[in-house]
Amino acid sequence: MDNLITGDLKNIEHLFKNPNFEFYRHDVSTFVHVPGELDYILHFASPASPIDYLKIPIQTLKVSSLGTHNLLGLARAKNARILVASTSEIYGNPLVHPQTEEYWGNVNPVGPRGVYDEAKRFQEALTMAYHNIHGLETRIIRIFNTYGPRMRLNDGRVLPAFIGQAIRGEDLTIFGDGSQTRSFCYVDDLVEGIYRLLLSDYALPMNIGNPDEISILDFADEIIKLTGTDQKIVHKELPEGDPLMRKPDISKAQEILGWEPKVHRSEGLKITYDYFKTLNHDQLYKSEHKNFEAYFR
Ligand code: UDP
Repeated sequence: MDNLITGDLKNIEHLFKNPNFEFYRHDVSTFVHVPGELDYILHFASPASPIDYLKIPIQTLKVSSLGTHNLLGLARAKNARILVASTSEIYGNPLVHPQTEEYWGNVNPVGPRGVYDEAKRFQEALTMAYHNIHGLETRIIRIFNTYGPRMRLNDGRVLPAFIGQAIRGEDLTIFGDGSQTRSFCYVDDLVEGIYRLLLSDYALPMNIGNPDEISILDFADEIIKLTGTDQKIVHKELPEGDPLMRKPDISKAQEILGWEPKVHRSEGLKITYDYFKTLNHDQLYKSEHKNFEAYFR
């Protein structure tokens, strides 16, 4: 189920031949009806890129608040287990490093990312309340930066931004001095973590991400080496509210799920680059986000 506000049917084209697959085009922020029985509900609907939050802040707020409420209600009605996608963004600009699940975060509710961060925090609170009051089987995953094939080239996030720039022969744009850090998890590792958490009996929030931390400056160097581009690095202003560091503490996932990431960045980046190289000219040059000024203040 997807309203395709940031998604693309091309990404699931290969699934339509599967007789066990059905797709509903629907916005889960409005009442959700699904006929028949349900065993599991996985709520991943939400814009997930800082530029998207700026473009569609109200939809971003609604999908993790009203949308979560609808899906928790659906889970209750169907007696289904529900897993909701939360995010490292609930830690805001963290003052604890690496981030453990016990850390409560440092979030500006009215900053540009507040619409995402606060909706996801509300989602966690609502999900725990349904668990505690209604005994609903709930799971909460806090997802850290993830990448892989089928990301949107122009969604503004750093990996597709750098790879797109390298392929088009443009300079790589680093926001700020590039000393801010992120920790990138390859999508297959994330999916394995989601699956294990779903089947576990652990109802409190759990971090899933790759603790291999890197500065954005070093990351740009890796992309330059990977793509062989001879473009330069240019610096732009750091967007307001951009977290300075981010790295998951994954001890809980290791202990409780026996999970840890397996794919090294060098391998994951190569697979992702190979995917982006298959895009055609229109896909490479279409700019969904012409109004970058808003992001840069
Ligand atoms: N970033 C950058 N250049 C870009 C896009 C992003 O330097 O063209 C930086 C951004 O300021 C942030 C980091 O890369 O510090 C990761 O940004 P992204 O939008 O991928 O996700 P975030 O982790 O901030 O939600």
